[in-house]
Order: sequence, then C-alpha cells, then structure tokens
Amino acid sequence: MSRMISRILRLAAVASAAVLSSALAGSAPPAALLIDHVTLVDGTGAPPRPGVSLLVRDGRIVSVTDAPAARPGDGVRVIDGRGLFAIPGLIDAHVHLTGGPRAGQIASLRTALEGGVTTVWDLAGDARTLGELSREQIAGEIASPSIFYAALMSGPAFFTDPRVVEASVGYRPGDAPWARAVTPGLDLAQAVAEARGTGANALKLYAALDADQVRRITAEAHRQSLRVVAHGTVFPARPGDLVAAGVDMLAHAAYLAWEGSAPSLEFQKRAQGDFAGVTPDSPVIERLLQGMRERRVALNPTLWVFADRPDSDPAAPARIRWGAEVTRRAFADGVAIVAGTDGMTTRGAALPTIHRELELLVTSAGLPPLAALSAATRNAAETMGLGDDRGTLAPGRRADIVLLGANPADDIRNTQRIEYVIEGGRVVRGPAGGR
Ligand SMILES: [Zn+2]
Repeated sequence: MSRMISRILRLAAVASAAVLSSALAGSAPPAALLIDHVTLVDGTGAPPRPGVSLLVRDGRIVSVTDAPAARPGDGVRVIDGRGLFAIPGLIDAHVHLTGGPRAGQIASLRTALEGGVTTVWDLAGDARTLGELSREQIAGEIASPSIFYAALMSGPAFFTDPRVVEASVGYRPGDAPWARAVTPGLDLAQAVAEARGTGANALKLYAALDADQVRRITAEAHRQSLRVVAHGTVFPARPGDLVAAGVDMLAHAAYLAWEGSAPSLEFQKRAQGDFAGVTPDSPVIERLLQGMRERRVALNPTLWVFADRPDSDPAAPARIRWGAEVTRRAFADGVAIVAGTDGMTTRGAALPTIHRELELLVTSAGLPPLAALSAATRNAAETMGLGDDRGTLAPGRRADIVLLGANPADDIRNTQRIEYVIEGGRVVRGPAGGR
C-alpha cells in the first residue's frame, strides 16, 4: 500500500517536472513573430490603420509597415491578422496586489494577463511581496502582467490603519522603508533612498501631510528619479497644493471636491467632499484642472471602484456623479486621464476590471473610445515613466500586444473581445484559450 503511494507520488513528481519544463520553455519568446494584415490601434488616439504588418523580434516590435512584409524566414511564427485589431497591452495603473493568500494573488495575476492587462502599477502594499512577484514575472515563473509599485509615505495618523499595519508586519508601523511615517525628525533624503531601495518606482502620498511636506517630499522623490502619486487630497494639503508641488498623478476623481470644500483635518472623510456645494463646473475646480494641465499632473479617476461596489453611504450617488463629471471636464481641459481600477480583478469575473473602467470612462465621463484606450495604454505608461518602453505600438516598444476580434474605436466594449494576448513577444493566450 505504502509502496503504491510512493510510486504514485514519484509519477506525480515526474509529471509536474514535465509541466514545469514546458512552462519555462514557453517563457522564451520565439525568434520572431509576424502579425500580418492587422488593423493597428496604436494607443496614441490616432485613427485605426488597416493592413499593417507588425514584426516582433526578441520581445520588441521591430517594424510597423503598411506593405505586406517580406516572406518570413524559418522560425518566424505568423499570425494572420485579417479581421483583427492590434492594441497595446492594457495597463491598470492603480492596483493593490498584496494582502490575502498567495494563491489568490497568483490566480488574480493570471486572470489579469489573460484578460489583456500586461502591466500594473501597485499603489502601495508590502514591497517585499511585490518585489518577489515582480521577479517571478520577469523570470517567467508566473503568468502575470509586469509589476511596478509605489512605496507609501504618509503622516503618522494613517499608521493605525490595519491595511498598512499588515503591509509592514515585522516593523513598527511607520518604520518600514515602503510604508513610512513622515515625522518631524525624519531624514527625508534617506527615507526616499530607502523607499527606492525596495524596488519601487514611485512614492504614494496617502494622508495627513501639509502643503510644505508635500512640496519637499515631491522634490526629493523627483531628485531621486521616483514618480509621485497622491490621493486627490491628503489633508490638510488640498488638491491644489499637490498640483503646485508637481506630483505626477492624482488618484480618485471625487477627492478633487476638497479643493473647494470646507477644510478638514480628518483624512477618513476623504470621500465625503462637499459635492453639492462645489460643483465640477465651479471656478475653483476649473482653476485646479487648468493647473493640472499646465503642470502635467495626470488624473486617475477610478470610476469603477466608486460606482460598482455596493455602498450604503447616502453620499454615494453624488460622489459617483461628481467623479464622472469632473473627469469629463478634466479631459476637455487637456488633463491626461490615466485608467486604474483600485481592484484589478473581482471574484467570479472572467475578465479583469480594467474593461469596466474603460466602459465607464466612455459611458459616464464621455471620453471618446480611443481616448479611453489611451488612458489605459499611452497615458498610463507616460505617467509611470515608461513611455519609451511600452503603452504604444511602435518600433522599439516592448511587444505587449492584444489582438481583438472587433474594433474598439466603434465600441469600447470590444476590448473584451480578446483573441490573442502577447506579452514581451510571447503568445500567452490564443484563440479558444490555446497558444
Ligand atoms: Zn488604491
């Protein structure tokens, strides 16, 4: 009996080794990939361009041509792109991956990738876990989008929140290099260097900071080549203080109402702005949006997280309307809109949430479909400091490509009609789930 069990276990070990080696073999991109006769929707907002040949080599796009490409040589995989629409891999620029069991994280990352998301920006969690997930993605050990992440800085008042305590287990809350309390004696240059040492490419400013602190932190982060993302308001600093400091992105459109709301020191009230008193078309908000355009501060509206979650808060309907309306005005004023969900996947949903956010950017905030697509491709990449690497389909860019069965310019919901997902030149999803 026990001999039979050990034999079964040995066979299982051999079988799982075989699965592992084929998975690793699959992680190497083919020598070249040619996508022929495809309609290009390149992420810049330019009109769709039919009859394009995209040649990919060593994980990068090497050419984008109108003419039919020369006959591919040996080792070049060809995908017949007739009837297909090539868009850049989608970027969800507001996720939180850590917390909860690892099996759930791995499953969620796979769902995101197979649903067309090839890059995510984690806006604060446990950097130890994020660094390891990022390494596993790069090494081809897990099916996942590329992972970039922010380290958090906040006033001490935030460090009783159970989420931040969990994300810095082993440290006194506020002392972890990726979740740092800004106290009067803090050596800011050292703290920013330590945040950068976690592998983060950005700082996230969360709460309980004043205008002077925000200005000094942002300047030091930029000096050390980190991007800066802030909640739309951080108390007591207002949205306009964050814009004046030159942060790169403000998250949660509804929080911009605090530019005109009566001041509060309680960051817990961040979603309770004066939505009735400070309308999105009021002069104070218009000035704020002009400042965002001039200082090139992007807006990360996160419409879905407010709209689709059951919420018994009586302010919810006003908050949802206000966020959508200010996003509409920001877009009209020339502010870069960056798509993010604050919830990459939801239990039971086949596709990642970014498709819902794209839909809301069109149906609630009135963006044209290709502008919404740019929010989840080019604009996100540029705001993350990755614009030369990804976010558009052009020679030299990383070959993160999604092939759709219908035109997203006609209907943004066509981003859900995924035929192929190509990550770094490797086909990770093909028709009917095959490769
Ligand atoms: Zn968030």
